[in-house]
Amino acid sequence: MQKKVSQGMVDEWIEHVSAFTQLGKVADYIPALEKQDRENIAIGVYHLDGECVGAGKTENTFTIQSISKVLALALALMDQGEDYVFARVGKEPSGDPFHSIAKLETTNPSKPLNPMINAGALAVTNMIEGTTPDEKVGRLLAFVHELANDHSIQYDQEIANSEYETAYLNRSLAFFMKQHHVIEGSIEELLDTYTKQCAIEVNIKQLARIGAVFANEGKDIESGRQIIPRQLARICKTFMVTCGMYDASGSFAIRVGIPAKSGVSGAVMGSVKDFGGIAVFGPALDEKGNSVVGMQLLEMLSSRLELSIF
Ligand code: GLN
Repeated sequence: MQKKVSQGMVDEWIEHVSAFTQLGKVADYIPALEKQDRENIAIGVYHLDGECVGAGKTENTFTIQSISKVLALALALMDQGEDYVFARVGKEPSGDPFHSIAKLETTNPSKPLNPMINAGALAVTNMIEGTTPDEKVGRLLAFVHELANDHSIQYDQEIANSEYETAYLNRSLAFFMKQHHVIEGSIEELLDTYTKQCAIEVNIKQLARIGAVFANEGKDIESGRQIIPRQLARICKTFMVTCGMYDASGSFAIRVGIPAKSGVSGAVMGSVKDFGGIAVFGPALDEKGNSVVGMQLLEMLSSRLELSIF
């Protein structure tokens, strides 16, 4: 029997976690993110039969931040193929925070350990086909439109600018990788593309639908069209399991046990085979950078429906 989440369940979970919105810290290293309201919490579940339920601030939009790393990886893999991509970025968890520079210097050859840390994500974004940042971002947005089945999705210019102007660490990672020939071309153009990619703005149901396409082996939910080749969707979900929740991926696998990717805005996208896509949002983050309320929602969802893949 197919497992389903009812409207009553999501309403109950949101009610429960609304008592915890004061815990944690809203990210402020990207100045525009600091303005996020910690009370804006939401959950969305997109089942593979096309039914979608949501609760909380479902009309609110937020930026996807690091969740974009999964989408950029899927597109770069489709553009360049597995061999090309994995010659330049590794497949192993780092155990370090997402913006760490440490292992770039100690790994030999000097390539980023995986596509979910910032160094790896910058290298992946550099591989998206297109001659200008606008062309690359335009292709990524067109891909997101297909995944969400919604052509209105855009990036938030203010948040993109705010990150671009303060992305000192990401610039250093990119310069380091340029020195070591992991990336090529203009660093400023790469940062322009990457910060716009991270600032793609969605609501909770749109994000849940994107997660559902990955859960559905890369096929569109309603039409069944293969948007992402099955093997590439599988690679993306595997990285979500091993590296999706930063250096808390191991404990998350035990606590929740689903492929999921977190973003510093407080969003998390999950993809569960034979079930669907999940999106949770809550801007206040724990010490590892994962949404406090989001973790609670995922834990309740996973235990109630027995979704752990392990
Ligand atoms: N745009 C953010 C950054 O590069 C994404 C990080 C995140 O969501 N963890 O710092």
